[in-house]
Amino acid sequence: MIYLDNAATTRMFEKGVDIYKEYACQSFFNPSASYKKAINVFKQLDMVRQNILNKLGAREGNIVFTSGATESNNLAIMGSKRNGKWEYIFSEGDHPSVYNTAKELCQQGHVVHFVGLQKDGQVDYEELQSLLNEKTRLVSLIHVSNETGVVNDIALVNRLRKKLAPNSLLHVDGVQAFCKLSINIEELGADFYTISAHKFHGPKGVGCLYCRKLGNLKSIVFGGGQEGGYRSGTENVPGIMAMNYAVENIDIERNYNFVHSLKQHMIAILNEEQGIRLNKNDSQESPYILSVSFEGVNGETLMRELQDNGVIVGMGSACSAKKAGNRILESMGKSKEEVKSYLRLSFSEFLSKEDIEVAGKIIVETYQKLKERVK
Ligand code: PMP
Repeated sequence: MIYLDNAATTRMFEKGVDIYKEYACQSFFNPSASYKKAINVFKQLDMVRQNILNKLGAREGNIVFTSGATESNNLAIMGSKRNGKWEYIFSEGDHPSVYNTAKELCQQGHVVHFVGLQKDGQVDYEELQSLLNEKTRLVSLIHVSNETGVVNDIALVNRLRKKLAPNSLLHVDGVQAFCKLSINIEELGADFYTISAHKFHGPKGVGCLYCRKLGNLKSIVFGGGQEGGYRSGTENVPGIMAMNYAVENIDIERNYNFVHSLKQHMIAILNEEQGIRLNKNDSQESPYILSVSFEGVNGETLMRELQDNGVIVGMGSACSAKKAGNRILESMGKSKEEVKSYLRLSFSEFLSKEDIEVAGKIIVETYQKLKERVK
């Protein structure tokens, strides 16, 4: 099997699994307990917080451990809402865990705006600028699109909102960026940044929210007061320690260059075939994701055929794959035809150049076969 759906989830590091086991079977103590062994676990969690802050290039701030990005996104959005005449800005490019939380805010009677996307998939910065004002409470954007790999210019958004919306907070869904692109949170200016471990070879069901100042946040889960009271519930210690292994061991720059070369190789192979359209945006794009339209062929049918031929690809966000249409591609102005024939290839440093060669060939041949069939 050649796995090209790494934006949906990644394989864990084997060493991470060993560490998981150690903290599940030996150092399994509750970090909130008062005996020495438990206090040691508590200290380990603090060490992980510092490692994540370092990886983010943070000079200040806090890490609140969560059950993953869906919860982190909910916490950032629902936890920063306030009573009164505040406004909230999101985009059409957001993941459902942000988009549907924004819809819930709307249901609760808050003023919510959704900014459209440009043709290349970046947020429409002009529209965003026109919506910023003194009443803006939160701007929430995705860093790297899980559908297209397009990178939003968060530093630009930060400059705009500092000028036009001085009372605002900035939340960034960094799930497809953290441990993949080098991040300097100080340059991005984010107040909140969402992270999920299973996108960078950590376990599923664990992640965190970076918070510049905890005072901007209110808890949405109530209980024993863990995580400084911002997220009650016993921490997933084995998961956090396995995530830490990935944080400590991923060489972002080396992987970036290698995965970039894999993507370029795939692009070169697919470019040869008529009818295969690569949704590329050379200036602002993650090397980890390539979205492709296959003219005249249904994406889902192609995905199934590829699976039978040993190549696993994605149909966009796994969370929205079961729904018809694609809000994000539609907002970029893609035709119904293009949306229907769209697939997402996403890479990891576990792949080899040979994997790309084999998978590329299979993709082209399978597409040719399907094209013939529908003729
Ligand atoms: N945001 C983005 C950009 C994602 O790609 C995902 C995972 N598809 C999530 C949020 C949700 O992550 P989790 O599975 O950790 O809840």
